[in-house]
Amino acid sequence: MLLRMSSLFLRTLREDPADAEVPSHRLLVRAGYIRRAAPGGYTFLPLGTLLLDRLTALVRDEMLAIGAQQVHFPALLPAEPYQTSGRWTEYGDDIFRLTDRRGAAHLLGPTHEEMVTLLVKDLYSSYRDYPVTLFQIQTKYRNEARPRAGLLRGREFLMKDSYSFDLDAAGLDESYVAHRSAYQRIFDRLGLTYTIVTAMSGAMGGSRSEEFLAEAPAGEDTYVGCGVCGYAANTEAVTTPAPPARDLKSAEPMQVYDTPDTPTIETLVDLANDRRLADRTDWTAADTLKNVAVEVRPPGAPEAELLVIGVPGGREIDMKRLEAVLHPAAVTVFEDWDSHPELVRGYLGPQILAKAGVRYLVDPRVVTGTAWLTGANEHGRHATGVVCGRDFVPDGTIEAADVREGDPCPACEHGRLDIRRGIEVGHIFQLGRRFTDSFELDALGPDGAPIRITMGCYGLGISRVMAAVAEQHHDESGLVWPATVAPCDVHLVPTGQPQLEAAVELAGQLSERGLRVLLDDRPGVSAGVKFADAELLGMPRIVVLGRRLADGYVELRERATGEREDVRLADVAGALAQPVPHPA
Ligand code: ATP
Ligand code: MG
Repeated sequence: MLLRMSSLFLRTLREDPADAEVPSHRLLVRAGYIRRAAPGGYTFLPLGTLLLDRLTALVRDEMLAIGAQQVHFPALLPAEPYQTSGRWTEYGDDIFRLTDRRGAAHLLGPTHEEMVTLLVKDLYSSYRDYPVTLFQIQTKYRNEARPRAGLLRGREFLMKDSYSFDLDAAGLDESYVAHRSAYQRIFDRLGLTYTIVTAMSGAMGGSRSEEFLAEAPAGEDTYVGCGVCGYAANTEAVTTPAPPARDLKSAEPMQVYDTPDTPTIETLVDLANDRRLADRTDWTAADTLKNVAVEVRPPGAPEAELLVIGVPGGREIDMKRLEAVLHPAAVTVFEDWDSHPELVRGYLGPQILAKAGVRYLVDPRVVTGTAWLTGANEHGRHATGVVCGRDFVPDGTIEAADVREGDPCPACEHGRLDIRRGIEVGHIFQLGRRFTDSFELDALGPDGAPIRITMGCYGLGISRVMAAVAEQHHDESGLVWPATVAPCDVHLVPTGQPQLEAAVELAGQLSERGLRVLLDDRPGVSAGVKFADAELLGMPRIVVLGRRLADGYVELRERATGEREDVRLADVAGALAQPVPHPA
């Protein structure tokens, strides 16, 4: 393959696009890989298309290698299967819905569990047919609330989605592990630094679920890691270890105090210490119980339910964690205090909630026998010694408090959590029978009895991966593509007119040997501009044909390491056959 920059459909930009905040977005636009076409929608230009094709081929290779078979569904789908599974309602505003000319409801596919389950049911009936894994590489549509950062969160994006169908749990485990290893090979081949974290199973239900998070400050996912035992989890999935319950008999009595002007936990703690509440001067935020009222509305529900959440006062409610546990219900902060006069804003305590018929869920640290400083449900008053199990009985626990650097590891005894940011590039789940139950997908067993099929689903965002690779592989001058997916293997830069002829000849030879060659044959462009563009575009190798060409030498530059070496023109092909070095 030979691309000539004199005719290539490409304009590189010196300036960053105004709407680009993250490196991948900035560089992919500046280097002419993508152009914004719509909110959350991008056009891939020739170099971007080549890169996307190579990424797609690499992913397809690894899917075929684990025995998955490629299919291709329409993106425009009828509503009925999604109504049957319940996701038509669950998705709420997150999908694109449309109506055809006959008035029939449709959607643009966000993923295809329903369709693939129906397809398998359509063709397979015997236990002998299983296991089977199908995958597709397809444009997906999601009506994202906040499309952002170029390819990182689009409303239209390319995904590889696969679905495994097995007769039993052991088979599902095997399919899951096969995908897990395939994903590791894919991300390793792309040179991505990533962590596999325990994930929330979310809307899909099911059991085991992990995400592949590529490390990047631009990532929207926060995850935690433990340096001692290697535990890693998405912040949404972190479980809080509960302390042992305490004896109710030895619990202190409840006492109510006037606590004027204490609108915040900090002012409350100061006052408690100044006034020696309950004869103590060692009050801290962690002794207080903060009660936050929210409204929870399941999709399709006529009304929202009021829910109060209690967390130790040193903590904030993490809305992302809360939304993840309550998904698919929508969560909003409760504002309508007038409708519940028994709830005193700013002085809310759990003592009255059961009587008021309000559901109360607590952080797992709020166990039986723990005593709290909390609202007394009267304006300007708080109570000490409000004891869980005696003065209030929660309706259950909820993981809604923020997770902090240094929190104890839920998986080992001594570890402390540290917090990192990443981009979710892949997600694998054991769905179980969530969809096969909806569509009654059974295989006829050897004894004639039906066996309900168990399913896994595995997503990988190919266009997002392109941005994730750019996030991890760039420097101040531009992109640095790994050799495994770079649109071209080598970028030839003749510095002036006298070197052009030799460059054209070399380009021809290299492309005949099967290399992907980009030749900068633009007339009237200075060597400086050509160098800058070569660094911006990010092909792994740059061959400069400059002054030393007269002596039969060219310069070979490694984009990743910056190494430069003079090579005889006759030896260039041999040098390019060597593997690309990685940066130290
Ligand atoms: P996120 O939490 O980032 O919204 P998700 O959990 O909704 O993602 P999945 O349903 O697991 O995503 O989709 C599988 C994969 O598709 C993700 O791991 C990600 O790589 C990719 N993906 C999901 N949403 C988008 C998007 N809006 N733009 C680009 N890629 C996406
Ligand atoms: Mg996910």
